[in-house]
Amino acid sequence: MGIAYRRVLLKLSGEALMGNLGYGIDPTVVQEIAAEVAEVVASGVQIAIVVGGGNIFRGVKGAARGMDRATADYIGMIATVMNAMTLQDALERMSVPTRVQTAIAMQEVAEPYIRRRAIRHLEKGRVVIFGAGSGNPFFTTDTTAALRAAEISADVIFKATKVDGIYDSDPHLNPGAKRYQSLNYGHVLTQDLRVMDSTAIALCKENNIPIMVFDLTVRGNIRRAVMGESIGTIVGD
Ligand code: UDP
Repeated sequence: MGIAYRRVLLKLSGEALMGNLGYGIDPTVVQEIAAEVAEVVASGVQIAIVVGGGNIFRGVKGAARGMDRATADYIGMIATVMNAMTLQDALERMSVPTRVQTAIAMQEVAEPYIRRRAIRHLEKGRVVIFGAGSGNPFFTTDTTAALRAAEISADVIFKATKVDGIYDSDPHLNPGAKRYQSLNYGHVLTQDLRVMDSTAIALCKENNIPIMVFDLTVRGNIRRAVMGESIGTIVGD
């Protein structure tokens, strides 16, 4: 099987970097993810990453405790930058040239988000990590992933999760739950399957960007997904 995708937008939740910790970043887990990314980059695949911040701070949770929602969301966005820099460090220790671009300017530590520059980095074989979400409160990093994927003309979004795809019912509650091989956007939206938030799904639908949902905790899955193996659920038309 050959390489199925040339330019991939990988969405990593903050929790993916947390491993089994209750909070924050597990450097061993980050190193494992970086090794997988390094492997696919070495095969010539262009990788851009949008990383979340849920392992550190989530705006909605702050707001639920009385914080101003927009302020809490900005804190959440800044949290994603810590994750982005951690990933960059792990990748560069593996000799993978990596640039972090942030949607909120932090020029001492990262480049500002510049679309054309991001594309140029990818063409040169550099990994680009998009930090600070979209730069706008009331949005999520899933929506950011859809937005950036559209902007850089990614072939696919890899939505790496802790389950191996989308099921017709909760596999933890129903042992007979069936995993979908593929689903269309409309189905995901109307059934409220919560693959990504509805804004993200709508953006992918409008721009025809397929979403591959798969289990990141199985090592080698990023490579398998790049090769087009059916290891999860693909959402498309
Ligand atoms: N966030 C935001 N705008 C964005 C992206 C993120 O305000 O465009 C904030 C929001 O508060 C969110 C937090 O950053 O809760 C962390 O992102 P997210 O919850 O999407 O991370 P993940 O669930 O992927 O770890």
